[in-house]
Amino acid sequence: MLGELFKGLGTTLRYIFKPPVTVQYPEVKRPVRERFRGRHELKRFADGTERCIGCSLCAAACPADAILVVPAENDPDNPVSHGERYAAVYEINMLRCIFCGYCEDACPTNAIVLEHQYELSFYDRRASIYTKEMLLVPPDRGHGDPPPILRELQRRPSPPAQIDL
Ligand code: SF4
Ligand code: SF4
Repeated sequence: MLGELFKGLGTTLRYIFKPPVTVQYPEVKRPVRERFRGRHELKRFADGTERCIGCSLCAAACPADAILVVPAENDPDNPVSHGERYAAVYEINMLRCIFCGYCEDACPTNAIVLEHQYELSFYDRRASIYTKEMLLVPPDRGHGDPPPILRELQRRPSPPAQIDL
């Protein structure tokens, strides 16, 4: 009994002069691992256009049905993205998201990326839906050039062939 008491006191004494291991969050934020999957961002190309082409592959891959994409046709005179379409609406329900990264893997243009931001608290369910405006990075934070296949698609699609029946 006494032995255990002194053993416990010894442990306390051993640690009392060591620097505390407690992190003073939120003043101090611990860096996360390189492959940590946090809050999503919608990326741009270096020319400022949106990488998202509204293909909805991310929504199809999402096991939690957390993503809503509503595509729209690009105006050739003022395109939002390279390609025929862009995401007019892009939403992620963060209450449903399990941060699996399947959306990121499915995206053909590397538009949706899970970044390192982990502060995702909200007070009501409506605030858990992150809109395109919240997810899209500013125009000056774009990177990379669009692939040639997307530049080729930056034109109006040919009208469908007429078939006489
Ligand atoms: S990380 Fe997973 S659960 Fe979250 S939106 Fe992407 S695919 Fe869906
Ligand atoms: S984020 Fe990627 S996968 Fe999702 S709609 Fe946009 S281009 Fe398609």
